[in-house]
Amino acid sequence: MLLLIPGPVATRPEVRAALSQDIAPWDPSFRPLYAGVRSRLAEIGRCDLTQHAVLPLQGCGHFAVEAAVRSLLPLGGKLLVPMTGSYAERMARLTRETGRVVVELPASSVAPVEPDSVARALAADPEISHVGLVYSETSSGVVHDPAAISDVVRGAGRRVLLDAVSAFGALPLNMAAHPEIDAAVFTANKCLEGIAGVSFVLARVDALQRHAGCAGSWSFDLHDIYQHCVRDDWGSFRFTPAAQVMAALRTALRLLAAEGGQPARLARYQANAAALYDGMTRIGLRPYVSREAQGPIVLNVHAPADPAWSLPGFVAALKARGFLISNFYNTATPSFRVGCIGAVTPGDFHRFVRAADSALTAMGIRQRAPA
Ligand SMILES: *Cc1c(COP(=O)(O)O)cnc(C)c1O
Repeated sequence: MLLLIPGPVATRPEVRAALSQDIAPWDPSFRPLYAGVRSRLAEIGRCDLTQHAVLPLQGCGHFAVEAAVRSLLPLGGKLLVPMTGSYAERMARLTRETGRVVVELPASSVAPVEPDSVARALAADPEISHVGLVYSETSSGVVHDPAAISDVVRGAGRRVLLDAVSAFGALPLNMAAHPEIDAAVFTANKCLEGIAGVSFVLARVDALQRHAGCAGSWSFDLHDIYQHCVRDDWGSFRFTPAAQVMAALRTALRLLAAEGGQPARLARYQANAAALYDGMTRIGLRPYVSREAQGPIVLNVHAPADPAWSLPGFVAALKARGFLISNFYNTATPSFRVGCIGAVTPGDFHRFVRAADSALTAMGIRQRAPA
């Protein structure tokens, strides 16, 4: 079964093989492995290691987003969130649940956020201390421009928390060039093509120190994680880590380097998305986002208007043909999602388009365009 979902993604056999060993995470032989992973991640994010720390957290991406909010946005701080789609909604919700105040900035779900709209919102409310931006909005496939938006935020003297979960490893990130970004968050299992179970925050040390003690949670306290690293060294974890997942991530990072690093990975994903966009259009389906606004991470396609259409039926028909796509809707009008990331190539998408064509025919769907 080939996973064409925007996480967890299809992985290479070498990555999965790295899981099949017992590991004692406190043994000295694990420490260099883990420390090496962190320095490679710092390079990919273009961190300046005199100013930034690579902080790990057991668990999924939302845990790391919550840790960043708790550790870097003090109680009483206000977070402006451009409402780009369901991942922005999640950031807004988890921030509110920590007792912080969220200001929602209305935004398009099919076009990048306008930096000017962020500038206006910041000018209108001097109490907003941070902007929470989703780099690649995985619900729609639109990629936003953190460099342009961060420039505006820096100009206004505020800070950025960046959800780079479905971006890191493929889309560029330059932490050193953007000192206003306090944190960028990602996981092992999206564009890095590792296994789910560990997430990371690239964080500014001065911001961590400034807000030390504000997390209101020991588990999610990035400053505490940072202090542990300083005290016990960068090869040690605070609580029991997913050590096999970390070993698999080391292999995944070696494969990323062998492929040519972030630019090469981006080029492969762009080729995947182009093959998918063209193919879906060719068989009479309509992508949700215009070609200009379409990002290389995930592609949404309008549900056909035909009465014979059902998403569970389509997902099952595709599974029978060897492909797994996302099985829920998360856009205002129904659209199905196909991931373009993972250990997959344009050839896989050519085969997928033929499978989708055959599945629609078998389901008796004649009107493939949306209502
Ligand atoms: C996948 C994803 C997350 C985190 O998802 P988890 O299921 O918590 O790992 C957060 N933000 C974005 C934009 C994502 O694509």
